[in-house]
Amino acid sequence: MEVKELSKTDFAKNPVIAQMMINNHEQVVFCNDNATGLKAIIAIHNTVLGPSLGGTRMWNYNNELEALTDVLRLSRGMTYKSSVAGINLGGGKAVIIGDSKKIKTEALLRRFGKFVDSLGGKYITAEDVAMSSRDMEIIHMETEHVSGLPENMGGSGDPSPVTAYGVYVSMKASAKETWGNDSLSGKKVLVQGIGHVGEVLVDHLTKEGAKVYINDISEERVKEVANKYKAEFVAADKMFDLDIDIYAPCALGATVNDDTLGRLKCKIICGAANNQLAEETIHGVEVGKKRILYAPDFVVNAGGIINVYYELEGYNRERALGHAEKIYDTTFNLFQLAKKEGIPTYLAANRLGEQRIEAIARINAVL
Ligand code: NAD
Repeated sequence: MEVKELSKTDFAKNPVIAQMMINNHEQVVFCNDNATGLKAIIAIHNTVLGPSLGGTRMWNYNNELEALTDVLRLSRGMTYKSSVAGINLGGGKAVIIGDSKKIKTEALLRRFGKFVDSLGGKYITAEDVAMSSRDMEIIHMETEHVSGLPENMGGSGDPSPVTAYGVYVSMKASAKETWGNDSLSGKKVLVQGIGHVGEVLVDHLTKEGAKVYINDISEERVKEVANKYKAEFVAADKMFDLDIDIYAPCALGATVNDDTLGRLKCKIICGAANNQLAEETIHGVEVGKKRILYAPDFVVNAGGIINVYYELEGYNRERALGHAEKIYDTTFNLFQLAKKEGIPTYLAANRLGEQRIEAIARINAVL
């Protein structure tokens, strides 16, 4: 996809449009409502493959520019994620500016729903940070263009089991690339974060006979998961020095950084967390130098968006899981592309995403 280099003057003249030009965003909608206190930005990055879909994040940004930068970055990420996952969705995202604990009300959410509705389906929203499925129900009072609704409303419910399954098959594809066969039996795997996704991943791994280590900041979660799956707890200050085969980040982003890369002894990094590489262009290259195979996060954790996609088609969990299974081939193929082109795996994943969009844009252009 076309990327533009811009000068300081470009930014001074057009602070918003210049930012949109960098990664060729299609549309940005600024929303304001004095009565409810709603201040939101909806960013539509690319709709070549289909309507843009991405969650709404509520966050107390320091300023508007921070919010704009975040929504542009996140919406672009959704374009790539859906493209590589092989689903017919484009990339979009929304941010609501403010402290969710202080200003989130039914009226504010419904006003936001009206803004989403005004886009006529070009943007479909879903849950993200500080937004719950109950909030989605409220937004849904004003617009049909909401996904991730609870099962009792005809929605797809919690996407985590599908996400976890995608992580599991992606890990198997990574094992095949590294050791020549995809069995995880006997492999030592560290799962950091045993929440909704992490626990289901631990379940898959245990069933396959992997030796599972777990870490979480919640003592309660650790106790529960360690007992249920006979997984071994490892303290935060020790986990990156452990002798392991696979590291699965399933808690938070940026855990692949200068510090951890100096310590990690694993052969594979493959987990659910978003934005695992602290600095993509630095740590995405460093992993390769350390002979660690990095399975790009947005390829690995696409089960969530795949799940929501099937909600739009009339939800069927078997179909969602069937599609998530393809993450195995996608992961394996991107490793082959990275080797063939001599590029880091994160870059190969980006190229796969771009290739599909460019190919479909060409057929769309045929009269
Ligand atoms: P979750 O909130 O259910 O679980 C996260 C777990 O990580 C919690 O148990 C929490 O206590 C733990 N945690 C938080 N900070 C930690 C730290 N510093 N060290 C160790 N543990 C810590 O979230 P989830 O739904 O399981 O998602 C996990 C990750 O995967 C998130 O980064 C999320 O953005 C990403 N993801 C999730 C989905 C999905 O379908 N749920 C889809 C795509 C990506």
